[in-house]
Formats: sequence, structure tokens, C-alpha cells
Amino acid sequence: CLAKDNRSGFEFFADQINEIFSRRYILEKSLYSALELKQFFLNYQPQIEVRTGRIIGVEALIRWEHPELGIVSPDEFIPMAEETGLIIPIGEYVLRTACEQHNKWLVAGLPPIRVAVNLSALQFRQPDLVQMVAEVLANTKMSPEFLEIEITESVAMTQVEEVIEKLNSLENLGVETSIDDFGTGYSSLACLQKFPIKALKIERSLIQQITKDSGSKSIVRAMINLAHNLDMKVTAEGIETLEHFRFLKRHKCDRVQGFFFSKPLSADRIEKIYESLQENILAVV
Ligand code: C2E
Ligand code: MG
Ligand code: MG
Ligand code: MG
Repeated sequence: CLAKDNRSGFEFFADQINEIFSRRYILEKSLYSALELKQFFLNYQPQIEVRTGRIIGVEALIRWEHPELGIVSPDEFIPMAEETGLIIPIGEYVLRTACEQHNKWLVAGLPPIRVAVNLSALQFRQPDLVQMVAEVLANTKMSPEFLEIEITESVAMTQVEEVIEKLNSLENLGVETSIDDFGTGYSSLACLQKFPIKALKIERSLIQQITKDSGSKSIVRAMINLAHNLDMKVTAEGIETLEHFRFLKRHKCDRVQGFFFSKPLSADRIEKIYESLQENILAVV
């Protein structure tokens, strides 16, 4: 009886393992051809300047439409793309597409929309990263001041000297850089001061805590002050409620991004609803 129970328990366990491995296996295998098969696309999430209520930019967020598994989240496939090195061509695709989209929106009569692009750790460490960015800018004829590059706090805080050099080169291209997911890792404040960074993006889990405990309120306030004292702007991500927004406005956060204002949208959708979205936001802020 015991043996039988064990076996069925094991079989149950094995089934689950199989499911996880097969999804992973399928994803990893199909990731190699996903770019060629044009299965990636970008969504864009508006960022709002708190003081004026104007949409000042969008963050480009990659999506993968897998033929059998549907839309796969970047949280699931970006780590695989890092492990396999596929992030290099995928990342270049994201950058080029975002720059091209900026131009397409201009042609469509929208105001110049700044696009923020996420760079992964491996991508940022490529010796020719700056050259790659310069080439994409040249090829797409994108004005560099409308490109923002986000690197995460954990990327920023390892091999700091190298990071500073790269960030300087990017700034020299005229591109803005920011630290994403600020508040998830640890930051050396002494290093932060040496970074030629334009903005800190406060991690969404922290923002979502501010209406729940006073400790998080203090931390977010301190982060905003820290950034301002270092001459940096602050973007808060994951704004889901009016209460979040009011708190951030009261404490002089510069920019906000979150479902409260808009989910990430397709490029077409941004083009279609831009004006009404802007009006709606102005009515709220
Ligand atoms: P991230 O760069 O911190 O992007 C913000 C994430 O928060 C996005 O998830 C966005 O949809 C989500 N978000 C924004 N506002 C809200 C909100 O109010 N509530 C909630 N619950 N979520 C909100 P997404 O698009 O799934 O991307 C997840 C992560 O995947 C990104 O985090 C980024 O680290 C990575 N990623 C996305 N696109 C790219 C890319 O093109 N390249 C690289 N290297 N990484 C990317
Ligand atoms: Mg980001
Ligand atoms: Mg983030
Ligand atoms: Mg994140």
C-alpha cells in the first residue's frame, strides 16, 4: 500500500516536472527562430510628467507571440534569451523597432514621443554596445535625445567603473540613461553619485506598498529626495490607483507610469488614442 502511494505520488510529481520542463523546453527551442519568424512585437506604456500631466514618453516592452502557447511574458523568456545569448539579436531588434516607431509616430502627426528601452545585463556588457546603439540611431535617423536606455540596479552596481564608462559614452551619444527597478537590489550611494544617470525608476512593488505601510512611504520619499539631491529625475512605476498618484505628486515625484494611466499598448493603439488619453490624464492630474 505504501509503495503504491509512493508511486502515485511520484507519478503526480513527475507529471508536474514534465509539464514545467516541456514548456521550458518548447520555449527555449522555439526562441531560436522566434526573431526570424517575426513572433516578437513591442507594446508601449505611457509615462506622464506629474507637474504638467503631459505624456512625456513611453516604455517599450517586448512581447512574444508563440504559435502554440500564446503571448509569453518577458519575465519568462528574457532570462532564457540571456542564457542562450539570443538576447543580443533580440535586444537589437527592440532598439531598432522602438526607434523606427518613434519616427512613424512623428510621421503620423504625433508629438515627438520619447521611448525608453530596457537593456539586459548581457546586452549592456557587450564590448560593442555603444557602437551598436550609435549604429541603430544612425540607421533609423532617430534623434538621440528621444531615446532613453534603462539598465537595472543590479547591472549598474556590478563592475561599477566599466558601467560608468559605458553610461558616459551613451550620454555622449546624446542618449538618456536611467536605473530601472531601483529599490530591489542594493545600491551603493557613493557609486550612485558617480553615475551620469538622468533618472531613477522606483520599483513597482515599493510603490504598491505605499498605501499599505508607513515604512514604504518613508522609503519612497527618501528615494525621491535622494534622486533630486543627485540632480536626477524620479519615475515611479506601477501606479495603480489615484491614491498612489496623489502621494507621489505630493512628494514631487517627476514622472509616473502605471495601469492607473494606461497599460502597455500596441503602437497603433497609441497612435489612435493618444489625444483622448492625454485629455483623460489632464482631467485626472
Ligand atoms: P520593467 O522594465 O520594470 O517594466 C515594467 C513592468 O511593469 C512591465 O511588465 C509593465 O507591464 C509592468 N507594469 C507597468 N505598470 C504596472 C502596474 O500599474 N501594475 C502592474 N502590476 N504592472 C505594471 P512587462 O511588460 O511584463 O515586463 C516585465 C519585465 O521584462 C520588464 O520590467 C523588463 O525587466 C523586462 N523586459 C520587458 N521588455 C524588455 C526588453 O525589450 N528587453 C529587456 N532586456 N527586458 C525587457
Ligand atoms: Mg524598464
Ligand atoms: Mg522597472
Ligand atoms: Mg521590473
